[in-house]
Amino acid sequence: MLLDEIGPERALPVHAAMDQFAVCAGELRVGGEPLSRLAARVGQTPFYAYDRALLRTRVQQVRAVLPKSVKLHYAMKANPMPALVGLMAGLVDGIDVASAGELKVALDAGANPQEVSFAGPGKREAELRQAVAARVLINVESFREVVALQAIGSELGLRARVAVRVNPDFELKGSGMKMGGGPKPFGVDVEQIPALLDNIGRAGLDFEGFHLFAGSQNLRADAICEAQQKSFELALRLAQAAPAPVRLLNLGGGFGIPYFPGEQRLDLAPIGDNLARLAQRAGSELPGAALVIELGRYLVGEAGVYVARIVDRKISRGQVYLVADGGLHHHLSASGNFGQVIRKNYPVTIGNKADARSTETASVVGPLCTPLDLLADRMTLAVAQVGDLVVVFQSGAYGASASPQGFLGHPPCLEVLV
Ligand SMILES: *Cc1c(COP(=O)(O)O)cnc(C)c1O
Repeated sequence: MLLDEIGPERALPVHAAMDQFAVCAGELRVGGEPLSRLAARVGQTPFYAYDRALLRTRVQQVRAVLPKSVKLHYAMKANPMPALVGLMAGLVDGIDVASAGELKVALDAGANPQEVSFAGPGKREAELRQAVAARVLINVESFREVVALQAIGSELGLRARVAVRVNPDFELKGSGMKMGGGPKPFGVDVEQIPALLDNIGRAGLDFEGFHLFAGSQNLRADAICEAQQKSFELALRLAQAAPAPVRLLNLGGGFGIPYFPGEQRLDLAPIGDNLARLAQRAGSELPGAALVIELGRYLVGEAGVYVARIVDRKISRGQVYLVADGGLHHHLSASGNFGQVIRKNYPVTIGNKADARSTETASVVGPLCTPLDLLADRMTLAVAQVGDLVVVFQSGAYGASASPQGFLGHPPCLEVLV
């Protein structure tokens, strides 16, 4: 039995939280367009589409809970599409880049260099030179970088602007990917920071403050608040050894979005309250210091979909396979191979049959000759045929740029901002 007729209570086979895109006359709307018309406009599948209105709304929601004095940065490695970075540059206070390639995109997009910061382990000398010449803030992550920045500064006749990226002595609890605490390649261990600060002072670099980023994809407001609190306390202690007053304290981000059944959207209200208390304390305990939070996934992840077309429908020993023209090579995260420990399905739907009453259990696979190329493993989906459009939600972050597009030589995907 392939088809199971279902009652109205199960009429929408999509993850309950995926309510950001309207459904109209059976079709999902992205950027206000019915999906099949959008696909015609794009001219090919597969593609990613990012919805401008949702991006704007999300930034407004974050702004609404942040104290006015706290700056909001976009960490563009979550989605470096130039048009999207251009839109975000006009909405947020600054852009965080993780390479000279990203720096170019941010500057092309019109980001103010004063509000651009550059983090990442293993910054090459050429990248450091580009960053100094661009007068952006460099988050120093090793003793070697201090030496290089001094030499580059005297060569260019500029003082490098630096903040110190601290590897704290605590972790962000409940985080999908930990980026601080214990031994880490990111930042400099807190124990070594006084010596690093001393070197920065003697090298004559322009010290602006501290950067702490504990982890990513966290859905627990209490854990995020705790990490921000501890980061603040740590910065207060470290400031005593700083060569200049702290003007900037980047408390990181790590705000997550729901991907899997049972996950709920993050509650921003307690985070806003917590930051309000910290901003107030900063006013007296770190006078002149601006607080910054940097968000990637949270700002863009829910605003994007990945769309692929079904090119074959096969049944193998009773199991339905919908074979799509896109998969792992465009969307590694949705295949479960980008940081997941146990593979779970991303929210997936048949976007041109979004209110279909007849559903079946089907797996969506891509065209690659590997069992890893799986977009949906035995999900309840509308009964789909060749030509229908598969949609993967929550695809605005760590999608196209985080996928091995050259693997197996299939065509690349397109990205559109709508
Ligand atoms: C990746 C990264 C971010 C963004 O993380 P999200 O989980 O996407 O918000 C922020 N800051 C730094 C330093 C990063 O490396």
